[in-house]
Amino acid sequence: MTDTVGAYRTAVNPLRCDVIEELDWPSSYTGAEGAYVTADGDQRYLDMIAEFGAAVLGHRHPRVVRALSDALHGGSPFIVPIGVPALAGELAQRLCELAGGRIERAYFCTGGSEAVENAMKFAVAASGGRSEFVSFEGGYHGLTPGPLALAGHDYWRTPLPGWSPPGRHRVPFGDVAAVERVLAGREVAAVLVEPVQGIGGARPWPDDALRSLAERCAAHGTLLICDEVLTGLGRTGSWFAFQQAGIDPDIVVTSKALSGGVVPVAAVLMSRAVHESVYASPAAATVHSSTFEGHLLGMAAGLAVLEVLAEQDLLARAASLGERLRSGLEELKGARAVTGVRGRGLLLAFQVAGIDAPDDPDGAGTCMDLLMSRGVLVYQAAHDPTWLKLTPPLTLTDAQADEFLGAVRDSLADLSAYHED
Ligand code: PMP
Repeated sequence: MTDTVGAYRTAVNPLRCDVIEELDWPSSYTGAEGAYVTADGDQRYLDMIAEFGAAVLGHRHPRVVRALSDALHGGSPFIVPIGVPALAGELAQRLCELAGGRIERAYFCTGGSEAVENAMKFAVAASGGRSEFVSFEGGYHGLTPGPLALAGHDYWRTPLPGWSPPGRHRVPFGDVAAVERVLAGREVAAVLVEPVQGIGGARPWPDDALRSLAERCAAHGTLLICDEVLTGLGRTGSWFAFQQAGIDPDIVVTSKALSGGVVPVAAVLMSRAVHESVYASPAAATVHSSTFEGHLLGMAAGLAVLEVLAEQDLLARAASLGERLRSGLEELKGARAVTGVRGRGLLLAFQVAGIDAPDDPDGAGTCMDLLMSRGVLVYQAAHDPTWLKLTPPLTLTDAQADEFLGAVRDSLADLSAYHED
C-alpha cells in the first residue's frame, strides 16, 4: 500500500508534514460522507470545515456523484477544442439568472485564484486599459501573482519579500472614504471586495458601506468585482452575498461551492459590457481561453449542485441554521472564553480569548485541538487566528449542529482549566 504521508513528504511538501505531525493532527483521510470525514484509521470527525466550504452539500452528495458518473460514461468529450463544450451554456445561463442585475455572461475556469486573475484581466480591458486596483485589509483573493498582489495580509508575501507590483492599493476594511481618496486621484480599473471576508474570519461588510462602495466605484468609472469564491451559491443565505446589500457589481467571481468541491471549477460572471471589451470582434472571439475552460465534469457537477440547492431550499436552511449556531455560540459568551461571534448564514466565526493575553491566538488554537479530540473539525482564520471559522455543509442537520455546540461547550470548559492554571 502507498505510504500517503511519506510520498507527500518526499515529493510535495515536507514541512507541511512536519507541522501536522508536531501538532498531532489527522493526516491521512480514508472516508468522506455527508457531514463526516474519517482519518487515520477509524477516527470520525464532524466536518465543520467541509473542504474550505466547498462541500456545500456535504461529502459525496449522491446527486453530484450521479451527475459525474453520467458525464464520465456519457457521450461528450471532456474538453472541446473545436465547437462548444456541452453543458457550459446551460450552467452559464443558470448562474447569470441567479446573479441577476447586469450579469449576463460567464467565463469558466478551474479555481478561485485563476478566476480572480481572469477577472482582473477583464477589468483592465473593460476600463479602457486602466491598470490599478484597490483591495481591503484582511481580504484574500488567492495566491497567483494577480490576486497575491491584492492580499490583505503580508503573510502571503513571505516567499517574495519586497515584491510589490505598482498600482495596488490596500485600504482599511470597510473604509469607503479611503477608497474614495484613491479613486479620486488615480486611474483605478477595479475594486475587489469580499462581501463577507472569509480568511479574514467571517467578517461581513455592513450593507450600507457596500452600497456606498458600489456608488463610489460607479462615480469614478471603476469596476466593482465581488469575490464570492467562498460566499457564492448559498453559503450566506442568498445565492450571492452581494445581493443582501442590493448592489449590482460588474463582475462576480465564484468557485468553491460550484461543484460541491468534487471537481476544480470556477466562474467569472460579468456584465455584457465587460465581456464585450475582451471578445471585441469575431477575430477576437477566442482571444481569452484555457484548456480546461468549461470542462465537462465541472459543468455537470455545477448543474447538479444548483439543482439540489434550489430543490432543498438550502439557502433558507443556511440562514436558519446559521442563526441556530450563532445563538448557541452567543450563549457561550461572557463567563466562558468566547469573546465574539460573527458572520452570515453558514460562514461563521467565534473568537476565543488567549490563555495569558486576551488577544493571543493560543486560546483559539487550544480550543481547535480540544474540539478535534472530541471529533469535530474547525479551523483558525489565517488573518486573525484568534477566530475559529466554520464553513459546514448547508445540509448539516439540527442534531449535527447541536453535536457541534455540545463539543464547543465541553471544550470551553476544558479550556477554562488552562486559563486558571
Ligand atoms: N478568493 C476567496 C474569497 C477565497 O476564499 C479563496 C480561497 N480560499 C480564493 C479567492 C482563492 O481560491 P483558490 O484557493 O481556489 O485559488
